[in-house]
Amino acid sequence: MKHETKPVSPTAVLAAVRPSACPGLVRVVAARDGGLCRIRLPGGVLDAARARALADAALAHANGVLELTNRANVQIRGVRAGEEAALAAALIGAGLGPAGIDAASPVEHACAADELRNVMLSPLAGLDPAAADGTTALAAALIDMMQREPRFAALSPKFALQLDGGERIAMLEHPHDIWLAAQPHGETVRFALGLAGCPTAKPIGALAVEDVCASIRALLHAFLDLAAPDETRMRDVLAAHSLDALLHRAQQHGEFALTRDDAALRAWRRGASDPDLRLGAHALHADGSGYVGAQPALGRIDARTLHALAAVAEASGDATLRVTPWQGFLLPHVAAHAMSATLARLRALGLICTRTEPLARLIACTGSTGCAKSHANTKADALRLAALLPRDAEVHLSGCERSCAAAHLAPYTLLARGPNHYDLYRRDDTASGIGQHFGQRFGQLLAPNLTIEAAAQVLAQQPRSTPDV
Ligand code: SF4
Repeated sequence: MKHETKPVSPTAVLAAVRPSACPGLVRVVAARDGGLCRIRLPGGVLDAARARALADAALAHANGVLELTNRANVQIRGVRAGEEAALAAALIGAGLGPAGIDAASPVEHACAADELRNVMLSPLAGLDPAAADGTTALAAALIDMMQREPRFAALSPKFALQLDGGERIAMLEHPHDIWLAAQPHGETVRFALGLAGCPTAKPIGALAVEDVCASIRALLHAFLDLAAPDETRMRDVLAAHSLDALLHRAQQHGEFALTRDDAALRAWRRGASDPDLRLGAHALHADGSGYVGAQPALGRIDARTLHALAAVAEASGDATLRVTPWQGFLLPHVAAHAMSATLARLRALGLICTRTEPLARLIACTGSTGCAKSHANTKADALRLAALLPRDAEVHLSGCERSCAAAHLAPYTLLARGPNHYDLYRRDDTASGIGQHFGQRFGQLLAPNLTIEAAAQVLAQQPRSTPDV
């Protein structure tokens, strides 16, 4: 009897050798609306040619809908069954894969290299003259170091680093397993180091720039030494072991040059970041040149609009885009005389350019059209809420308690209970973020089981001083 041999999909190979529910460029994960492919963009940087390649791939192999994520990455939704390998090959061919990976690379190698690209930078990294220079190159060196060390393939795809140069706009609310933040030090700069938190927290020490890669390498080895099989994040290891035990272990892995404590470190605080600067036109230099920022409604952009955006970046800036963790874009290097025309072109594409627009203050997860776990159609409900949203209110709609759309705690959260029914929570000072007990996770329960219309009424009754992020 003759047996037909079917090609093995990359996703099937990965499910066997490296199980994870986390989508990637090679690992296309099934969702209700088709496959989900996540393309990690180091530093959120996307040049116009690659933006077009992304749009073309989304049309050729999926339903043409793309999403910007809260880690400044891009996702292609609705990947057609059987087209996963062709999609990955198209993306890798366009230079959107990890360095050193091509279409002939072993699938598990490509996947591991892809999943070690979780280093978040400010969307203004290398652009803000008031911030530390060199973070883009340092992030590339960190990624390269991790990809070269076979053992680091064991890190969870969710294990994430933040490298903060002190830019005027940076995401400072997402907890990271390891964070580094530039700190002026005499005539130079060093990096404050923290674990399982954000650069607004107290650092555990500081690293000279030249010691960062080797010291982070030692720290990652120490993490893997101590982590039990079910402990995938730094917070898990720190819950089971003391900080001193972790650092002692790191010292056994070669160079680990951490300055634990000095007066400058104790006095250091990360300067404020203003998320409102993600939208509109902003000068960075004395000649008035700078950047223009915008975001698509609820983080979704169609392939045609992405094509048009690439054309605006070519005509107005340096032919690059920066994806932001607020699910939007910045166009850098816009001349002073081109600022207002660029802003007008982005508005004409239907993008949101000011915080006063209600959809600038709403985020929503995929919802029931794309996710089987969702109790409600969060995207559609967010659009209805936009018409009713009180001035200044910022609201996150989540289809279930996993909170995929927000790694931070929003001022208000609507947690779906059923179609068009949500519990309304308000952030409070005692709730410190994702990972808390479910009842504390979204803050204080204001009202249960509200329709969107009723939620808008409760929001309208809230004091307006509360919700600023
Ligand atoms: S938050 Fe829940 S419902 Fe929404 S996309 Fe994530 S898993 Fe699905």
